[in-house]
Amino acid sequence: MSRKLGTRKVDELGRLVLPIEARQALGIHERQSMDIYLEDDSIVLKANHDLPCCKLCGQGDVDFAEIDSAFICGDCVAKIKAF
Ligand SMILES: [Zn+2]
Repeated sequence: MSRKLGTRKVDELGRLVLPIEARQALGIHERQSMDIYLEDDSIVLKANHDLPCCKLCGQGDVDFAEIDSAFICGDCVAKIKAF
């Protein structure tokens, strides 16, 4: 079942802003890895939680510190150290 969440315009680079309601409902955070599927005449986006990402900010594709089985990125480690 699908529910329309709004209408957005694709920008000149092909980017699209996902509605906050959709991001919150599905736990999609900044820099979240997304899998993209083409289904007939629709594009389906699914959050990919298999790839490691920072537990605090969601950043992926970086070096992580592993703390109690949670991955924390260098930027967040620096922020914690400065706190
Ligand atoms: Zn982080």
